[in-house]
Amino acid sequence: MTGEEPLRLGHLYPKEMNLYGDRGNILAMVLRAQRRGIGLEVVPISMGADGADRAASCSGFFIGGGQDLDQDAVAEDLIQLKGEVLRQKVSLGAPLLAVCAGFQLLGTHYLTAAGTRIPGLGLLPLHTEASRQRLVGNLMITADPGLELQDPILIGFENHSGKTYLHEGLTPLGYVMHGQGNTGQSRQEGAWRDTVLGTYLHGPLLPKNPELCDWWLRLALGLECLPPIDDSLERSARLEAIAVAQRRDDFSRFRLLGRGLPTKRAR
Ligand code: GLN
Repeated sequence: MTGEEPLRLGHLYPKEMNLYGDRGNILAMVLRAQRRGIGLEVVPISMGADGADRAASCSGFFIGGGQDLDQDAVAEDLIQLKGEVLRQKVSLGAPLLAVCAGFQLLGTHYLTAAGTRIPGLGLLPLHTEASRQRLVGNLMITADPGLELQDPILIGFENHSGKTYLHEGLTPLGYVMHGQGNTGQSRQEGAWRDTVLGTYLHGPLLPKNPELCDWWLRLALGLECLPPIDDSLERSARLEAIAVAQRRDDFSRFRLLGRGLPTKRAR
């Protein structure tokens, strides 16, 4: 796949929206592209009007998590100056992956603790409400079958006080097996529609869930499938993260068969 124009990955607000190592998602995308001979150029899209032109030249986008203050600071810039071009690019099939605060900004609005309604991008029919409860810890979900992942478990950790409510007809990214998810009650985690995907999974997400990284790459390239690569390292990191999420002591009673769920070892 060499010789073609490199993919351009629009990294939205790399300085402000990079919580808990979310920049590791960018590194995963770059490396999994490079190992397939695909050039991938990271295009930082920061505050200010020139970001819209830079976004117009990108094949796909990523926005990470951020503290409340940083999230508020980028919200107006994102909606006013980048919103239109992102909606256009996504309507043409560009993938947009958003984590935590980035996920919250994909919705119609965010309701602060003071009751202020901060508008969102409106790319997904959902909204978020600030809460006094902090939802934090390891997070493991079973991904929606529509994503057609060979191994549907997605693993990482979460740390957010906002609770996200999906509106009628919006599909969650998956359902919680361990952890809190969107509200701590609904068992839903994240959301996705067509080429837009949001989640509370930090980790960073993609190094531990390589199939999701390939989901983004496939869409950005407009390909049905990608050539396989040896990702045994990622897969062992993933199994370790699953063990941590299931608490090591519980895990000692289980044996992993293949890459799927553990089964009880005969006593
Ligand atoms: N500030 C948002 C919240 O606490 C998102 C935090 C994050 O990105 N981890 O809900």
